[in-house]
Amino acid sequence: MRFNTKLLHGGFPQDGFGSTLPPIYQSSAFFHESAEKLEKVFDNKAPGFAYTRISNPTVAAFEKRIAVIEGGVEAVSCASGMAAVSMALLNIMQSGDEIIAGSGLFGGTLDLLADLTAFGITTKYLHEVTAQVVSEAITPHTKAIFTELIGNPKLDVVDVRAVAEIAEARGIPLIIDSTTATPALIKPLAVGAHIVVHSSSKYINGSGDAISGVIVDGGKFNWDFEKFPALAKYAKFGKLAYAVRLRQDIWRNFGACLSPQNAYLNCIGIETLGLRMERLCQNALELARFLETEEGVTVNYPGLGGNPYKPLIDRQMQNGMSGAILTLRAGSKAKAFTLINALKYAKIATNIGDVRTLVIHPASTIYNHADEAQRSAAGVYDDLIRVSAGIEDIDDLIEDFAQAIKT
Ligand SMILES: *Cc1c(COP(=O)(O)O)cnc(C)c1O
Repeated sequence: MRFNTKLLHGGFPQDGFGSTLPPIYQSSAFFHESAEKLEKVFDNKAPGFAYTRISNPTVAAFEKRIAVIEGGVEAVSCASGMAAVSMALLNIMQSGDEIIAGSGLFGGTLDLLADLTAFGITTKYLHEVTAQVVSEAITPHTKAIFTELIGNPKLDVVDVRAVAEIAEARGIPLIIDSTTATPALIKPLAVGAHIVVHSSSKYINGSGDAISGVIVDGGKFNWDFEKFPALAKYAKFGKLAYAVRLRQDIWRNFGACLSPQNAYLNCIGIETLGLRMERLCQNALELARFLETEEGVTVNYPGLGGNPYKPLIDRQMQNGMSGAILTLRAGSKAKAFTLINALKYAKIATNIGDVRTLVIHPASTIYNHADEAQRSAAGVYDDLIRVSAGIEDIDDLIEDFAQAIKT
């Protein structure tokens, strides 16, 4: 199956009634005909569902589809993207361990990594995530390399294959937050990443109607159970130890499960991911090309000719698609606010990946907890505006931005 076919037919569940969408099993618990049967379900010795925090047919349908689409062995869905990032890391980290991360991370992830220092887990930030810089940063305490594929909103792009080779050689898992890239642009597991996380609240859902996250394990990493003692209990599962511990331990105990209703909304959303990404990326590119010609603003978009990441985009991403986020600098915070306020179609909102165009001033919102050094390392300036392109007619978007820039 090719990509768009897989979005509709890959891992689709059969419920016996021929429903074309997975039904919403809005039930907290599932009863069984005997105590013996429930015992078996609890021990994973019989298929079945017991309790929705642990598993649910609608949630499982979403997870199965994501696993198939990303090419992983297991997908575990979460209540939010932040829960997915947290669980993906905490599944293998303990006090004294260190994470290597790109400095251009999503503001919420920066805040989370700061929270983890209270538990003895520290993060070393890299200004660029290249094979060489990563290689030099690794210490005996390093237990994970975590980075966003296309930084939000820094818009730096990681060469996944090159970084994965170093990670593999040094025995450290590469965990990629692929939210802004999506499997329509790249499947990180296929080019060597070990674990992928998504805020599926964004492009996977696609309509901005449900918060959720997902972790996908490629099942190919050779875990050293002395180096990762948290997984030792699951050593008999070998390369699947990460996925098994996640599902049977950390993830279910933290309780950040996805609701069946939101899993259902994601199952609808994901079917049009390919179509939406084509349109969103095209609109972002055309808007960026227009903004490049406007006086008074400077634009950043990895798909523009002359952008330092353009050759990598062409090599690494499907059809050279560069994502649907672009940023512009207006010269000052006051000008940025005036421009934002003058837009007619772009909604002022803290989200990305919606079908409608959204704008935000990151410094005063998603980075309001970050200090000055963190902001500049994340490419967040006082005059920066982030645009999440929507599927509107491009001529309307261009006219709208033109009049706002004049204002
Ligand atoms: C939004 C986002 C998150 C957090 O996801 P939520 O669903 O809002 O919890 C993490 N990483 C990236 C890149 C994001 O854009």
